[in-house]
Amino acid sequence: MNILLAGGAGYIGSHTAVELLSAGHSVVIVDDYSNSSPEAINRIEEITGKKVTAYTADVKDKAAMRKVFGENKLDCVIHFAGLKAVGESVQQPVRYYRNNIDTTLTLLECMQEADVKCIVFSSSATVYGEENKIPYVETMKRGSCSNPYGWTKVMMEEILEDATVADKDLSVVLLRYFNPIGAHDSGMLGEDPQGIPNNLMPYIAQVAVGRRDKLTVFGGDYPTPDGTCRRDYIHVMDLANGHLKAVEYAAQHKGTEVFNLGTGTPYSVLEIIKAFENASGVNIKYEIGPRRAGDLPEFWANANKAANVLGWKTVRTLEDMCKDTWKWQSMNPQGYIK
Ligand code: NAD
Ligand code: UDP
Repeated sequence: MNILLAGGAGYIGSHTAVELLSAGHSVVIVDDYSNSSPEAINRIEEITGKKVTAYTADVKDKAAMRKVFGENKLDCVIHFAGLKAVGESVQQPVRYYRNNIDTTLTLLECMQEADVKCIVFSSSATVYGEENKIPYVETMKRGSCSNPYGWTKVMMEEILEDATVADKDLSVVLLRYFNPIGAHDSGMLGEDPQGIPNNLMPYIAQVAVGRRDKLTVFGGDYPTPDGTCRRDYIHVMDLANGHLKAVEYAAQHKGTEVFNLGTGTPYSVLEIIKAFENASGVNIKYEIGPRRAGDLPEFWANANKAANVLGWKTVRTLEDMCKDTWKWQSMNPQGYIK
């Protein structure tokens, strides 16, 4: 298949590109590099030995996207192109709604014009909200979110689902990611956040290479076994493999299907620090600080549906996630900037 990766130069998109190319598919990447580097494209090509068709464009830009759809015969779209910083979304809600919703609408319109009938969407466990019991199952209703980022995901899921009601030939797969961490095992691709990392693993990795002084653990008084929050961390290459299975499934089906992509096993913040120290041999300086607004104490996936329907399961351990993160960060201490 020839697959358009909107936002494909980013963290999850670049790893997915490697997985798709390695499985024999072709990819076309569109990215405006607002949160990534063109160097990621070179690395994808170096790892796979294959050529990537890449466009520098804003996915909201209809004229630019028409050109992409016109110049390439596409079989499926994967939509990664979103703004994703929870705290920033509270400060800049309009920018988040504009970018995340408009990219989705533009893609759907271009797909309709070009008769492309298959889209896989990067959703998030955040859509389960606070109301649902853990572990989260796809049959649960979407909950209410504590921030605009989460609401954009809820709204985009709804928009995509509505589109399949109107067009019976359309196939939508909503992938609800849990907590992606890790990197490609070559050390050539990884997560390269701009500025101060919001997420736990890149923060730990930057402490390990000396870019940050110490980690603040957000809250030590949660009702969890060690008092710190627990999450379902998933290796980004297992997640990438989930996309491969999802596009192959989507191409054969119609209507909307939802899948959780997680391991089903939660780890606490302190367990992640310990695992990273063991994998890297580096001591991670940390202190316990106050809770971060909006954080839930714990959640993890029931990932049975992806196993049963897609034949997907995770194969990489927490040790692999830490080892690969460390390899990436130590080989690229400043990220893609050399
Ligand atoms: P990322 O920021 O690394 O990747 C997103 C990419 O999209 C970036 O390369 C960015 O430059 C690009 N982009 C954003 N808006 C664009 C636009 N208008 N036009 C063109 N390019 C644009 O993020 P990621 O971690 O790879 O996440 C990918 C998707 O998965 C996002 O939609 C995110 O919300 C979702 N997601 C991520 C996580 C996570 O923890 N990383 C969890 C759940 C869901
Ligand atoms: N966390 C932390 N310190 C940090 C960043 C994150 O203690 O500097 C905690 C956060 O409170 C949460 C977990 O690590 O319990 C994972 O946070 P992250 O932002 O990576 O993912 P989230 O689950 O919030 O999407």
